[in-house]
Amino acid sequence: MRAHIIDGKALAADLRASIAEAVRALRREHAVVPGIAVVLVGDDPASSVYVRAKSKAVGEAGMKAVDRRLPASTSEAELLALIASLNADPSVNGILVQLPLPRQIDAQKVIAAIDPEKDVDGFHPINVGRLASGLPSLIPCTPMGCVRLARTVHASIAGMDAVVIGRSNIVGKPVAQLLLAENATVTIAHSKTRDLPALCRRADILVAAIGRPEMVRGEWIKPGATVIDVGINRIIDASGKPRIVGDVAYAEAVQCAGAITPVPGGVGPMTIACLLLNTLRATCAQKGLTAPTI
Ligand code: NDP
Repeated sequence: MRAHIIDGKALAADLRASIAEAVRALRREHAVVPGIAVVLVGDDPASSVYVRAKSKAVGEAGMKAVDRRLPASTSEAELLALIASLNADPSVNGILVQLPLPRQIDAQKVIAAIDPEKDVDGFHPINVGRLASGLPSLIPCTPMGCVRLARTVHASIAGMDAVVIGRSNIVGKPVAQLLLAENATVTIAHSKTRDLPALCRRADILVAAIGRPEMVRGEWIKPGATVIDVGINRIIDASGKPRIVGDVAYAEAVQCAGAITPVPGGVGPMTIACLLLNTLRATCAQKGLTAPTI
């Protein structure tokens, strides 16, 4: 059996088109243009690429992107002052601070300083707590993308066994919360988990968010399972060329999985689309409008 390839690029394009349509309606009917501030501190090349891609997508959706680039020497107090001014700015509906931050800045302090209603990354402790409590909240973008991708394969995932490898605050834990909210039976694995291959073989849905190139082998995968590969790893392949691979050995996994996300072209594009969706939802909530169901 060869797996169905979950085309994250196409699904993200569909989602972005629906969001752009909703943004046009907001502008037409309420004269509202969602605005998002994208804050980048320093010149980390990978972060610069992500920030450029996010700002471009914001513009294409008809939203307003406010780019704030700060030098690597920025102090915590300076960044907190910028966040306070963005919190107070009514034209800014979403605030995204690209991580990681330089060493002198405490990322948790910065995240906690963002107005939870503008926290389009969904990392603020209030949004984390609301998600864990099953209350409406802004949901982290990559986890939201993972579950939306899984839902393109399964109309319902209730009762399924889901294994999430990774327990980070930005991917593993929120993915697990979302799968639980969908009534899956969820196990979270991490670096201390015993016999990870055996655990993975029980999974109807396997989410890999590890950061280790091709660690999950084909023989770890239950035949027919849905595999969501979050990993983005830059490697030099056997021919000496740089390449991006996921956390799953794709060529092996595609032979036995029922469905699988490719890397690139799977979770990555959905992350950006979900950021736009969060910005739309945050804007509607701030303006007292009902967000469209997308
Ligand atoms: P972290 O490094 O924060 O977390 C990695 C997790 O994997 C940890 O919980 C760690 O366990 C676990 N882990 C590490 N080694 C092993 C092992 N040998 N066996 C089992 N578990 C292990 O990474 P992130 O969650 O931030 O990111 C994970 C991957 O997803 C990365 O490749 C990242 O680039 C990618 N990513 C992709 C995004 C996208 O848009 N597609 C967005 C965000 C991330 P422990 O807690 O015990 O240390």
